[in-house]
Amino acid sequence: MPVMIEKKLKTDSANRAYSPWDHAMAQMNAAAKKIGLNESILKKIAYCKRALIVSIPVKMDDGRVEVFEGYRVHHNVVRGPAKGGIRYHPDVNLEEIKALAFWMTMKCAVMNLPYGGAKGGVRVDPKKLSLGELERLTRRYTSEISILIGPDRDIPAPDMYTNAQTMAWIMDTYSMSVGYSAPGVVTGKPLEIGGSYGRFEATGRGVVVTVEEAFKQNGWKLPGATAAIQGFGNAGSVAAKLLSLAGVKVIAVSDSKGGVICPQGLDAERLMAIKAKGGRVSDYDGKNVSVVTNAELLETPCDILVPAAMEEQITSQNASRLKAKLIAEAANGPTTPEADEILWKKNVFILPDILANAGGVTVSYFEWVQDIQSYSWTEDEVNARLGELMRSAFHTVHQTAQQNNVHMRLAAHMVALKRVAQATEIRGIYP
Ligand code: GLU
Repeated sequence: MPVMIEKKLKTDSANRAYSPWDHAMAQMNAAAKKIGLNESILKKIAYCKRALIVSIPVKMDDGRVEVFEGYRVHHNVVRGPAKGGIRYHPDVNLEEIKALAFWMTMKCAVMNLPYGGAKGGVRVDPKKLSLGELERLTRRYTSEISILIGPDRDIPAPDMYTNAQTMAWIMDTYSMSVGYSAPGVVTGKPLEIGGSYGRFEATGRGVVVTVEEAFKQNGWKLPGATAAIQGFGNAGSVAAKLLSLAGVKVIAVSDSKGGVICPQGLDAERLMAIKAKGGRVSDYDGKNVSVVTNAELLETPCDILVPAAMEEQITSQNASRLKAKLIAEAANGPTTPEADEILWKKNVFILPDILANAGGVTVSYFEWVQDIQSYSWTEDEVNARLGELMRSAFHTVHQTAQQNNVHMRLAAHMVALKRVAQATEIRGIYP
């Protein structure tokens, strides 16, 4: 029998049950109120366009058949094809994937990319599967969602515990079924089959660009500042490396098993080497290095806090104890709306997820454009264009925040929602 792990609903300070989707809707409603959005348009955006639930039978290495549940959700495709990653995680559930799809709609809109929002996921612990089992799971999942995906319709990408190899299997499975190579069906692919230079580092690079802009705007000095990073996957590890290169002292990092802290700073490259060998960040040792839990890491005294792991890490329970002056959300949905209010009152500068981590989907867009043109850009070109788009989006959001005296998350949602609403209004409601 498959093991069904339903994510338990958490409760807020008033003991009401909530899900990430409720949080997403609270963010949307606050932005709608602020921009005076027409009720009919708002109602349309408050629903996902479509959601597909699939079962994925997989022949395991020992001969058993295990069945996993997977999802692909399109939140909104008014501004273009559906775009968003696929995650493999034991806590994946429909409400979470719906919220993540909504955030993709908003993320693409805030960056002004010609995409709608989607997300997919499989409820599985990928660490317990062999490479062969992962490949069979990925290919069957691709086949099950093939009624939705395609270069002009819905373009998946990596997310938690999926990577370039996963994308190669998806691209191959889709290509086999249509009978020709279709590199544009996924982004975040290996370079050899139409991937883009700079895509692997794009999320972390985008985070660092927005941190640099925020520091400039606030008149703070980046070299010598300190950072704590929760999560050492693709986004967290690259952010650690690039922040270190910018002169920031990365004093604490963690992965799902816990973390390490060192007031003199940690060596990001050494941490990456430990992870590449299958180790944990807590295997890192050295003078003055001590172990921290994920909860302690968030409360570390530092200038920059980078949540780069799961949703709902910063809540009404711990927000008042956070010490950072800036939070750069490399993760999607790490802060609850209640925590947002606490942080706003504490004067913490938040770089919200739909802006801070949008570097990934931005270079995904570049990859898709290169695939369509069958023409590849240099890494310098990719990084330069990424920097340009990230800085421009940062300033649009920052100006909106200042003009309306609201925090950066509300401003980002206002900018994005206005764009989605305008497209909805211009296209009209069919029939
Ligand atoms: N999974 C990433 C995100 O949450 C990237 C999505 C994409 O490139 O389509 O933004």
